[in-house]
Amino acid sequence: MMLAEATTHGPLALQRPVDPGRQLQVAAALQSALPAHCVLWRDEDTRPYECDGLSMYRQLPMVVVLPETEAHVIKVLKICRDLAVPVVARGAGTGLSGGAMPHAEGVLLGMAKFNRITQVDPLARTATVQPGVRNLAISEAAAPFGLYYAPDPSSQIACSIGGNIAENSGGVHCLKYGLTVHNVLRARVVTIDGEVIELGGLAPDAPGLDLLALYIGSEGMLGVLTEATVRLVPKPKLARVIMASFATVEAAGDAVNAVISAGIIPAGLEMIDRKGVAMVEPFAKAGYDLDAAAILLCESDGTPEEVAEEIAHMQQVFEQAGATRLAVSRDESERLRFWAGRKNAFPAAGRVSPDYYCMDGTIPRKRLGEVLNAIAAMEERYQLRCANVFHAGDGNLHPLILFDANDRDELARADAFGVEILELCVSVGGTVTGEHGVGIEKINQMCSQFSREELDYFLAVKKAFDPQALLNPEKLIPTLHRCAEYGRMRVHGGQLPFADLPRF
Ligand SMILES: Cc1cc2nc3c(=O)[nH]c(=O)nc-3n(C[C@H](O)[C@H](O)[C@H](O)COP(=O)(O)OP(=O)(O)OC[C@H]3O[C@@H](n4cnc5c(N)ncnc54)[C@H](O)[C@@H]3O)c2cc1C
Repeated sequence: MMLAEATTHGPLALQRPVDPGRQLQVAAALQSALPAHCVLWRDEDTRPYECDGLSMYRQLPMVVVLPETEAHVIKVLKICRDLAVPVVARGAGTGLSGGAMPHAEGVLLGMAKFNRITQVDPLARTATVQPGVRNLAISEAAAPFGLYYAPDPSSQIACSIGGNIAENSGGVHCLKYGLTVHNVLRARVVTIDGEVIELGGLAPDAPGLDLLALYIGSEGMLGVLTEATVRLVPKPKLARVIMASFATVEAAGDAVNAVISAGIIPAGLEMIDRKGVAMVEPFAKAGYDLDAAAILLCESDGTPEEVAEEIAHMQQVFEQAGATRLAVSRDESERLRFWAGRKNAFPAAGRVSPDYYCMDGTIPRKRLGEVLNAIAAMEERYQLRCANVFHAGDGNLHPLILFDANDRDELARADAFGVEILELCVSVGGTVTGEHGVGIEKINQMCSQFSREELDYFLAVKKAFDPQALLNPEKLIPTLHRCAEYGRMRVHGGQLPFADLPRF
């Protein structure tokens, strides 16, 4: 089957003609099992689902299904298994690695209607939620009990807990409170066979293999989440943040290491370089230092006494590390203003460039200065601007490459720039993803990161859950041993017909 590129929806829109007979067969089977309004297949109805936050890659799904109950999900998965139809689950569609990008011959399973918080238990400090619940809504529901859900992706006003669990999402507070995987106690999952399995549990240290940890971060490839129980933590009595300026990115990187080696675990430790500050400040008016080569935001939380002591310690460390300016938030509104700049970095990028490509790799913290300088040299080579706004305490980089997707040459340069950054991360001992997942975006770099034997083990796990490879195919794990060739074909040449896909 030929792949045809559409020109109206971005340069890399992939529009493979759907076989109308197959589409009708699948839609009819689904409509016989679910209420008619839950099944969409006309182009105008399926268009809103054609991409996630990685909007440079787009694909219309064959059919969209919007289940309302777990029984609906079970029926959909059984039908897809019986008809050998690929299934891509979708939360809020804010993912940045193409994880929720539909399959041309598949069902897009939108979980947005699963939006109920079933229970907040202040005694057990847990919340039981459906997967379509927004991250921030959990903290809002827990607030009357003095509790909150700690992992806080910058997209938390929109992204769903189902997406967070599938991507093992992180955020500013994860340095101190752990990633999603450290804050989820239990997951209820429907397998491709329509079986419901419970992973983890409320009691500590469940016996058997830790399938919950395996499931978290599996990017919708092992089963569909229908409910989760998450851990809540007490809201600290006080939080204050230091804004520290540095004359070079190396000095800022060294200061990050100095904080951690002084035994401090900040509630957040983020870096914004000069280009990031220049991009964010006119938009967010956060009060950032426009003269600094880089600023750090370093938060302390706890009781007033703990915070006073820790802030004094942090200030001392930053002064010794050569900070050129220090400002400590005086009250809650100033603290929120300091963070507003960091949290609004992506919208700010949208004001200065038609498109941006947010990379996500990790490196050992001690290599921060060196890697940021190498990225600056790449800017020259690729003739593209790149701002850095990231979780410095975790060594989790987010270079934002600014480009215009309507210019094919810029698009190709942005893509190559991103690949080089990820490969640099691997070469200094880091990884190709810190928190945004692999999806389709980083499938090539999985081949740089892992050996053929390691990828074989990933595939064996996938096969144990999903023998026909129907759940989110062509994502996360490069199939077979044709790693590089296959991955490149996938990302640059479009989707393969499902029947032709090499599987296990
Ligand atoms: C402005 C902006 C800022 C961001 N900041 C951060 C950040 O600070 N930290 C961070 O980690 N990420 C960040 N992200 C990325 C993104 O928000 C996260 O990856 C988030 O977890 C995705 O959630 P979602 O509901 O949008 O999932 P989607 O994009 O809809 O899906 C993501 C993946 O989850 C799978 N999935 C969704 N629901 C289910 C389900 N019920 N069962 C099985 N699989 C499912 C999908 O198949 C897909 O593979 C940011 C994105 C944006 C646009």
